[in-house]
Amino acid sequence: MITGKNYIGKTLSNGGKTTYKTINPAAGSENEITFFEATQAEVDQAVEKAASAFEIYKKKSGKEKAEFLEAIVAELEANAEALKEIYRLESGLPEGRSNGEFARTTGQLRAFATMLKEGSWVEAIINNPEGKPDLRRMQVPFGPVAVFGASNFPFAFSTAGGDTASALASGSPVVVKSHPMHAGTGELVSKAIIDAAKKTGMPDGVFSNLNSKGIEVGEWLVKHPKIKAVGFTGSFKAGTALSKLGANRDEPIPVYAEMGSINPVLVLPSALDEKAQFWAEQYAGSITAGAGQFCTNPGLILGLKSQKLDDFMQFLKENIEKVAPSVMLHPNIKKQYDSAKGEMLQQKGYTSVAEYTEEVNGNLGKQQVIKVSGEEFLQNKNFHKEVFGPFSIVVECTDKEQLGKIIKDLEGQLTGTVLNADAQELKEFSESIEALTASVGRLIYNSVPTGVEVCAAMTHGGPFPATSNAKFTSVGLTAVQRWVRPVSYQDWPDALLPDALKNDNPLKIVRELNSERTSASI
Ligand code: NAP
Repeated sequence: MITGKNYIGKTLSNGGKTTYKTINPAAGSENEITFFEATQAEVDQAVEKAASAFEIYKKKSGKEKAEFLEAIVAELEANAEALKEIYRLESGLPEGRSNGEFARTTGQLRAFATMLKEGSWVEAIINNPEGKPDLRRMQVPFGPVAVFGASNFPFAFSTAGGDTASALASGSPVVVKSHPMHAGTGELVSKAIIDAAKKTGMPDGVFSNLNSKGIEVGEWLVKHPKIKAVGFTGSFKAGTALSKLGANRDEPIPVYAEMGSINPVLVLPSALDEKAQFWAEQYAGSITAGAGQFCTNPGLILGLKSQKLDDFMQFLKENIEKVAPSVMLHPNIKKQYDSAKGEMLQQKGYTSVAEYTEEVNGNLGKQQVIKVSGEEFLQNKNFHKEVFGPFSIVVECTDKEQLGKIIKDLEGQLTGTVLNADAQELKEFSESIEALTASVGRLIYNSVPTGVEVCAAMTHGGPFPATSNAKFTSVGLTAVQRWVRPVSYQDWPDALLPDALKNDNPLKIVRELNSERTSASI
């Protein structure tokens, strides 16, 4: 049962007088449950508990933390149907998506559990050559983490999503600022985490969930001296505001914010020789997937002005106009989509390529594709802005040089895609491709950017403004590196060293021993 209360560690807490409800975006009506906005006293309590819990939790072994993550999976799975139901009610996302995102979330937690049991993620390095100091280094967690749930992935980028899973894996307690659009989903997921913490003997305060519709709770959290890092996915505006807040504290802390991206797609001429129809179908699907509410949505398609590009746009039009618009996450997101699209359509010099023109009722996001010349795109930076929803711009470049210039001029992006069917052509466009590699976190060849695998080799990040810190990823196993710092022990007694650095290597992990990777003992 959802109570609308806050989880302060293992206890349910009443919140303040301010209340709110979530919306059913499909019906356009309020859901029944009332949520209680967390008070400043509750924020303090949650963070204090997290700080006390850290002293115990950071000493838990990899095996114990893995058992905790696996217990979260078991609790989530035991409540799967109720969770998926509230997820759909609060997000308007369809059943298939609720199943897929649920599996992604549990899969993510399991992957971190496996990583913990294997143990080498701590990156143990030992240098002990004759005549030199004995130095041993590993990664350790640095304290409680504040996580902001993302609106567009109520399971996988939210309460028990990648930020929480990676922070808990690192040994850091987590305080979640629940996303107000799916507060009920957040509370049920929190219950699963708290029950798992109780069952596996984790300290009180290892996890808390604070309800909030408004920015104060998030601000208090980021400013709290005992919060040591922040994970965020959402808008550029909120991400940069929180980054500044983190940087301006007496003790500055890292804010890992994943923000906007228009995910350029470079369509090289050969790609359209035989597969213009194929790529048009693929991209019509990618642009409209999830009502365009993916951070990797392809918002910018770059090609050379030609008959082939005209044909591609015609096919894109035929395919995309057939797609029935789907429900957006929330009336506010829809309002923001309409307003950002409206602002784009106020610009001069574009032509519409495709548009869903039929009247729709309610909270549906209608797709549109426009085209502009390379010159217009270079001159008017408004065309570079993210329109969060099923919207994309095709840029017709006059030649290779202009294409290269446009790519060099682009802001940092999460992804960059190249479509091509001729190896020689890759050499001809090498300057553009190099420019693309310099400004994105993930390069994709002959595919669509939507769909982000969870695995150790994934980078879901990129140069500013795609994220606030291009060195890290928010998806995949290396996301854990955001919450740890290296510590070196010099000539430290073996008995006092953490197991990962001890001579006999009791964890049997792979370590770097005098430049060689080995699981041998010393
Ligand atoms: P948002 O406005 O960025 O909000 C995300 C979270 O941050 C919410 O919990 C929000 O709290 C909080 N917040 C917002 N501004 C804040 C501030 N100045 N200080 C402290 N906390 C703050 O994102 P959203 O509500 O999910 O969606 C709005 C827009 O964000 C979308 O239309 C889209 O443009 C963008 N978005 C981008 C991505 C992406 O992957 N790049 C994903 C989702 C959304 P409250 O809501 O309680 O005020």
